Amino acid sequence: MKIILLGAPGAGKGTQAEVICDRLQIPTISTGNIIREALKSGTEMGLKAKSFMEAGQLVPDEVVIGIIKERLAKDDCKNGFILDGFPRTIPQAEALDAMGIAIDKVIDIEVKDEAIIKRMSGRRVCEKCGASYHIDYKKPSVDGVCDKCAGALVQRKDDHPDTVKARLEVYHNETEPLKDYYNKQGKLTIVEGQDSIEHTTALILKAVEA
Ligand code: AMP
Repeated sequence: MKIILLGAPGAGKGTQAEVICDRLQIPTISTGNIIREALKSGTEMGLKAKSFMEAGQLVPDEVVIGIIKERLAKDDCKNGFILDGFPRTIPQAEALDAMGIAIDKVIDIEVKDEAIIKRMSGRRVCEKCGASYHIDYKKPSVDGVCDKCAGALVQRKDDHPDTVKARLEVYHNETEPLKDYYNKQGKLTIVEGQDSIEHTTALILKAVEA
């Protein structure tokens, strides 16, 4: 199955992608994680993306489309995948269609802006594997240490409140129109993401397995 997770930054796409990935045994592809990796390793693409990412702006479409083309061509995507953070603009969605990739379901996780701002300030991510935690809602077993790979948990630079506001504005202007785009294709399910992680997971699994 080929699934897109839509939603504002901090709506819980990464956390929910991990659950679907375990359930369906298909990989999660997060353009944000791929870009952060490139940044860490100092590749040309990473350097190109750095200033955009740190300011809470989108990396140019042609860069991200290139990343996704390369990633989806890999063997592990043959039986499906979950896209977390791509597409984020109409041209990105059109590029996906132009690649001949038939998306089965698009799940939009809805969370209000005020709740997002609150959530993001407590978010911590593993600097090694990218797994996501929260200081109140999703604590690791050992403080500051990733349950999965024992990597250190850190706060992302772009999770600081001012950058979060910029990212939300970009989301409303550039990404939200994708709801309409996929609704017209009959693929969109909207899921309430305001409640607990478990509640949202149950709604998402129901939508995925419907
Ligand atoms: P994320 O981890 O998905 O929140 O992404 C972090 C940052 O990476 C975003 O704020 C953008 O700067 C960049 N990014 C990730 N995915 C995309 C995308 N599909 N299009 C443009 N920029 C992206």
